[in-house]
Amino acid sequence: MTTMNTDQPAKTDTIEEKMKVSLDKSDFNEWYSNVVEQSNLTDKRYPIKGMNVWPAYGWKVMKNIDRLIGEELVSTGHEEVHFPLLISEEVFAKESEHIKGFDDEVYWVTHAGGEELDVKLLLRPTSETAMYPIFSLWVRSHTDLPLKTFQLVDTYRYDTKQTRAFTRVREIHFFEAHTCHADFEDAEKQIAEDLEIMERLGKKLCLPYLMLKRPDWDKFPGAFYSLAADTVMPNGKTLQIGTIHQYRDNFSKPYDIKYEDTAGEHKFAHQTTYGMSERLIGAIVGIYGDNKGVILPPAIAPYQVVLVPILVKKSKAEVSDSCQKLRDELISVGVSVHLDHRDIRPGSKFYDWELRGVPLRLELGPRDLERGEVTVVRRDTGERNVIKRETVKAAVVEILNDIQASLLKIGEQMLEDSINTVDAIDEAKGKTGVIRVGWCGEPDCDDQMCKLLEINMLGTPIIDEGYSGNCGQCGKPTTTVAYYAKSF
Ligand SMILES: [Zn+2]
Repeated sequence: MTTMNTDQPAKTDTIEEKMKVSLDKSDFNEWYSNVVEQSNLTDKRYPIKGMNVWPAYGWKVMKNIDRLIGEELVSTGHEEVHFPLLISEEVFAKESEHIKGFDDEVYWVTHAGGEELDVKLLLRPTSETAMYPIFSLWVRSHTDLPLKTFQLVDTYRYDTKQTRAFTRVREIHFFEAHTCHADFEDAEKQIAEDLEIMERLGKKLCLPYLMLKRPDWDKFPGAFYSLAADTVMPNGKTLQIGTIHQYRDNFSKPYDIKYEDTAGEHKFAHQTTYGMSERLIGAIVGIYGDNKGVILPPAIAPYQVVLVPILVKKSKAEVSDSCQKLRDELISVGVSVHLDHRDIRPGSKFYDWELRGVPLRLELGPRDLERGEVTVVRRDTGERNVIKRETVKAAVVEILNDIQASLLKIGEQMLEDSINTVDAIDEAKGKTGVIRVGWCGEPDCDDQMCKLLEINMLGTPIIDEGYSGNCGQCGKPTTTVAYYAKSF
């Protein structure tokens, strides 16, 4: 296992210390490692690798994302459930593909107190095997279907690769939806709904992605097929930020999830899952952050606005009062505001909130008061404007909407720019980002293309792109286009 700076504590605790750490995004890995710590999204000093400590600020971001996910799921008829962390070895072993896929990554519990357990237990790496024995009790009749559930829990995977905050962890902050349906067609409708949910979430999180069908050899263990959302980081590597799986009846058979249909016949349910994790934060940080720190989309920022009073002795009370009034006004129109009262220089506050990615900073001092104005500074563009005090509520709402929209636009452009379409795989040499190339369908051609550029196939598009060309390896005519990249 390699040890790199990503695992070493770079955390600093005071603004003065933070100001000494220079952030330079041209060295992406180093920058990422520093920026997630300096911005208080994570504290990596915990003594077990891959286990994230969430400081209050980072946890607020995660909870905002969880809330957006929860709202989407509830509004589409899912119900939140919560299953145990421990799974018994016997139950886990029922689906053979599944256990093969996860066996290497499982954390085992073999002892309790001083005693060795008769049946080994494992920490859930994902919750199929925790849920499905119970689903077999819940699903009895066609009237119980569809069963649409989700949970937000930590899952555990002993990933042997280099750990990295949010993007490669061993304790995963996981969202997982699990559904049961009467037949394949109804499960397919669920997949279509999941795709729509992902699309809406992508817009709220300002996260553009490619939605691809993973090749058969890379699907989720036990799945009939797997779809995955990949986003592209500034270093050209892709990051998987969401997955949707069609299980067919692959799990309902070993776990005996059966229902009685209207004719009194017993049938196996068809199932789907949909999963996402804190990788969403990693992607947002990676895509939008800069040398000043993180840039958070207003939809997930713990504070959309930070209000900094510019205090000078004579007018201290007056400015303070005005700031409180302004804060309350903004809260009344649904804007989350933090009034920074700390007894430190305004410049240090500016620095700190830029580092943490607060979308909008408002400054209010005696001169602003006199003129009936407020100074407004955007985090994404650095643009500084003075606006009339009486228009501030409407203006702030408008600017926040504009930040949200313009970030998404930038992200979409970056994704588009990162895709290189080539006719033959040789042409992709030296290119960074995603390679889009024709593929005849032969695993051997895929293998050779992967080896040549040390890349992996992400998959094929789920929406027909009307491709017509030749296989990038053997040159045979094909209408299948495949996406390749180096992945995180
Ligand atoms: Zn070929």
